[in-house]
Amino acid sequence: MACDFSALASIDSEDPEDVLRLLNECTRVLTDPKLWMWAIALTVICGAVGAYIGRRRNTVVRDAIFGAALGPIGWIISWYLPAPKQQPACPACKRNVDVGDAHCRHCGAKLARR
Ligand SMILES: [Zn+2]
Repeated sequence: MACDFSALASIDSEDPEDVLRLLNECTRVLTDPKLWMWAIALTVICGAVGAYIGRRRNTVVRDAIFGAALGPIGWIISWYLPAPKQQPACPACKRNVDVGDAHCRHCGAKLARR
């Protein structure tokens, strides 16, 4: 008995032994280490492709997660999703400041208006 929809359709639902056989077969298929190795390898490959897509816009981690979680759909989302705006840095101390700040909150340097 194979673990597929045809087995499910042809099963005798009144026979507990038949149902148990299908359950055992499906459990055996789902716990097969070969299946998990393929699933893990595909997840890593999809994440790597996502990271490659994000490399150009400096969104490697975000796009690697999209790729690993959603596969080709994640790649499409990564491709069309805009890159997040870079937070401006203080020219004096190089730490992040907010857009529109007049002075750096870390060192007090006067910031150019953006
Ligand atoms: Zn500063």
